Amino acid sequence: MKNESSLRRQMSQNLPFSDEDCMALSYYESLKSNSDHDHAAGSDPFVGALVQRSDGTVWQLAHRANGQEGHHAEYSLIEEELSGQDLKGCKLFTTLEPCVSDVRTGTSCSELIVKTQIKDIYIGILDPDMRVYSKGICYLFKHGITVHPFSCEINGLIMKSCMYFKVQKNKDCDKICRVVSDVIDSKFDKDAVNYFLSNSKSIKTKSDLACYLLNKGYVDFDRKNMIVDNEVQLMFYKSKVNTFNSRECVFIDLRKTHGEEERAPSYFDGPLALFIEEFNDFCSKIGIKQNDSIYGPLKEAFVNATLHREYFKATAYAYVKFDGTSISFTNPIPSSFTDEKVNEIISFSTKPEPGNPILVDLGREIGLIEVQGKGLFTIKSVKPKPIFTKSADRILELSIKII
Ligand SMILES: [Zn+2]
Repeated sequence: MKNESSLRRQMSQNLPFSDEDCMALSYYESLKSNSDHDHAAGSDPFVGALVQRSDGTVWQLAHRANGQEGHHAEYSLIEEELSGQDLKGCKLFTTLEPCVSDVRTGTSCSELIVKTQIKDIYIGILDPDMRVYSKGICYLFKHGITVHPFSCEINGLIMKSCMYFKVQKNKDCDKICRVVSDVIDSKFDKDAVNYFLSNSKSIKTKSDLACYLLNKGYVDFDRKNMIVDNEVQLMFYKSKVNTFNSRECVFIDLRKTHGEEERAPSYFDGPLALFIEEFNDFCSKIGIKQNDSIYGPLKEAFVNATLHREYFKATAYAYVKFDGTSISFTNPIPSSFTDEKVNEIISFSTKPEPGNPILVDLGREIGLIEVQGKGLFTIKSVKPKPIFTKSADRILELSIKII
């Protein structure tokens, strides 16, 4: 990746840019967001956007709060910097998924982009704000725009810059991060942390993880104590009954395989971050390899059953079992799901909706979830079509025939 000054020189000399160069320069531009505007709440990520002409040269750049506080980078670029210009045939690069009308009064950036008639857009990270997450991309798709991803390397840098944003603004940043790191050492399961760090795209060290958890508000610093969110505990703690915020927590029994006697269900006895490893182990035991076509849908079914379930009912067990021809995933339906919503799931017609945003967020980091809502679609594609059944006590079972 080229450094910022050489890219700026390249731009001023009107030399053509590769896609990678445009991504890199958008990223450098995004870092300017910080100096323009004091985001006291700390929740606004850095954003940089860039328009490339059809001859490959860079026309203009903008970052968040470029012209005025609260102005989005894409808005500044299109409505201020390049106002009235014909952008047909240009490409747009933006480090963050453009916003949608759900969160914007006035015209959203996605709507603005459609109006410019730009047909190719390159997007860095999806908006971590669950109200926007994946909606911007869907909107652009629907309007005939081709959406391209940024390279993994640059996306990693974008993630990191957004992740550090909030704590960087806090003068006690180092101290707070150290306290969180201590909590990770003393309370988190070591294997779960290592699995998370080695599979996460952007969180590679323990201090990255500490910063990430702080930024997201998943751990809070309350003078003397660190308050760790329930879902984060579920993901990382080696927990026994009663240690999970005094509520009994269910576990997913992946040990029930064909021919084994049914075991009495016990409670959650391991961190969720490691369940995928158990699942992979289970698959290999019954002869399914990770490059088999059935593996993807099974993994999706597993993730759905694991992440979208009721955690707080003492008798609600989730488990996976193989009966010789089918694998079934059984999980209790979250109490927040209405009957209507459950019927939509059963008929595979549900709209994408995070069942448990924090777990979905953590799961996304380690590649358990790619695009929200894609999971059910992937599962549906299996032939013969998998079958959902619901019992009277709101237990959902999904059965997938594999032989
Ligand atoms: Zn916007």
